[in-house]
Amino acid sequence: MAYKIDKEKCIACGACVEACPMGCIAIGSDGKAEVNQDICISCGTCAAVCPVEAPAEE
Ligand code: SF4
Ligand code: SF4
Repeated sequence: MAYKIDKEKCIACGACVEACPMGCIAIGSDGKAEVNQDICISCGTCAAVCPVEAPAEE
């Protein structure tokens, strides 16, 4: 299990990038946040800090 960003919702505020304890979120070339799912530990921190509820577990 890992988290994934809904790019339709993401406004690229960067909050999840700063908050992720694994450092596995980056703003991609499309200007939206992206999770490296090989590293994500499904802690939920990104979902907790996101203002638009873009991250969700899949
Ligand atoms: S669930 Fe945790 S480890 Fe995974 S991307 Fe979000 S903040 Fe990072
Ligand atoms: S916190 Fe939410 S809106 Fe901000 S960059 Fe992350 S996913 Fe996008």
